[in-house]
Amino acid sequence: MVEIFVPDSCCSLRSGRLRWREIGASEVNCSHFLNDAPETYFCLPLVAQGETLGMLFLTPNDKDSIEGVRSREDSIRQLAELTAMTIAGLQLRVKLENQSVRDGLTGLFNRHFMEIALERELARASRSKSQVAMLMLDVDHFKTFNDQYGHATGDIVLKEVATVFEAKIRSGDMVCRYGGEEFAIILPDVTVEGAFMTAERIRTAIAGMRLTSGLAMHSDLSVSVGVALFPQDAENSGDLLRKADAALYRAKHEGRNQVVLA
Ligand code: GH3
Ligand code: MG
Ligand code: MG
Repeated sequence: MVEIFVPDSCCSLRSGRLRWREIGASEVNCSHFLNDAPETYFCLPLVAQGETLGMLFLTPNDKDSIEGVRSREDSIRQLAELTAMTIAGLQLRVKLENQSVRDGLTGLFNRHFMEIALERELARASRSKSQVAMLMLDVDHFKTFNDQYGHATGDIVLKEVATVFEAKIRSGDMVCRYGGEEFAIILPDVTVEGAFMTAERIRTAIAGMRLTSGLAMHSDLSVSVGVALFPQDAENSGDLLRKADAALYRAKHEGRNQVVLA
């Protein structure tokens, strides 16, 4: 059987019911097979809370095992129900975990997670006598962008911007959606020059982005970035965020599409 297939290729998934395929009884074959379909098989949808999550497939290959499966159909149904409920429970847990740390639109860490991570990184930096940079980034004139191209295109662009951010950082750096079109990036164990270069790399990449979202080609996107370092600019997380934000404000004031150090 193929590992991944569309629901339509299975007769049981199409009907939402257990189905035996047997010579002389129900001879139509499902099409989820790599090679020839077996002569006799049994498909049972795994459904929980109205959602189809998978399918249980059995191929008893002689008379005795066919009888064995037939006589245990009720138990097999119960097993399938239990399995489906367990899968649904696990999926829900993953979803909730993601929701509490990830932003729904971009998949980046959310602000709540960023605040916790920042405390941890500052404590670590104090112990190891290293520096942490906080980059605050804000998409320039995004309101105009939305007005011009629509909110839905704006959403797609925010996702693309997030992808660019993630492509331009090292592993261990953290990109977060701070809110709306504002982002925060934590760079642990970094120098001023390193932080500035990363910020510049990101800024240039966004300015050079060629968006193909929707039908139009937009090329007028840019970000402004404020950079502050711990411990040289601030002695705690609140102060660091304020300093980075003030630097961002200056970057906006001085013409946007630029990086300003605190
Ligand atoms: P500035 O260069 O000063 O930052 O100008 P701006 O227009 O980006 O700033 P302003 O704060 O006035 O507007 C932010 C805009 O970002 C307004 C809002 O509609 C848009 N925005 C915020 N969150 C989202 C979002 O999730 N999706 C979309 N499409 N737009 C968003
Ligand atoms: Mg803003
Ligand atoms: Mg903005």
